[in-house]
Amino acid sequence: METSGKPRTMPPDGPPDGPPDWPPLVLCAQIPPGAETVTGNFSLRHAGQTIPIEVTVPAGPATHAQLLPILHGLCNASIARASAKSHGEGRAISCAAGCGACCRQAVPVTPTEARGLAALVAAMPDDRRAAVTARFAGAKAALAQAGIDRSPEMLDMTDMDARVRLANAYFGVGVACPFLENENCSIHPDRPLACREYLVTSAPALCAARTRDVDMVPLDIGVLNRLIETESAREATGRLLLVDALDWATANPAPPATVAGPALLMELVASLFNRPKD
Ligand code: SF4
Repeated sequence: METSGKPRTMPPDGPPDGPPDWPPLVLCAQIPPGAETVTGNFSLRHAGQTIPIEVTVPAGPATHAQLLPILHGLCNASIARASAKSHGEGRAISCAAGCGACCRQAVPVTPTEARGLAALVAAMPDDRRAAVTARFAGAKAALAQAGIDRSPEMLDMTDMDARVRLANAYFGVGVACPFLENENCSIHPDRPLACREYLVTSAPALCAARTRDVDMVPLDIGVLNRLIETESAREATGRLLLVDALDWATANPAPPATVAGPALLMELVASLFNRPKD
């Protein structure tokens, strides 16, 4: 973890009721160069488990995008625990480099993730950015030609049947994610939460066929659906798909940061989990 500026400490919240169920996690937000930081500790109670966390965030006003690496870190730790448990039960994880079997699905992203992906693409070298944006354009053209309706009504947060119909139709077009290169995720460290939370032990062919027999590994911490709900309400938008992320982010630039990093983090934690102990 790299931070800059003068560290300060948020008051600890006291010891948890019993021994923690997780080893301590050390997580860090995205820190702008030269920014002052705050490092603090809190315990998360989630799904009956206690997770001790040390976290570093900007001391001054921060954006939701700057907190995204913290959720990625939580998710990564959850994946590592689920993978070890599954392996211990004799069910090896089949997700591996070179397997893009699941990367032709309609991938949901949150508004913050959409802006993060747009920033990632904008920061790419010219030739790479041109290739990726061309693949976005190709994917959208293929979906349009197939008559895949991604209008707000079809992406209604509450209509599960409509979402399933759209997901099936989208998958039927067979359009690859614009970030898929040689069946590898070209943005693996920055991939969306939906991709992180998709962890399977079944054969890749089942993912490629999108059958109901795919054996998903449950994660102790899965934040995507709750994050989609809270962010969509905050941004007054419907469900977003990765293929539309760049367009949405261009049309909806992030509002200026007004809330300090520690307060914004506690807001986010409270919206996603049981309240942190205080
Ligand atoms: S972002 Fe990466 S993991 Fe997710 S669908 Fe695209 S290529 Fe696959």
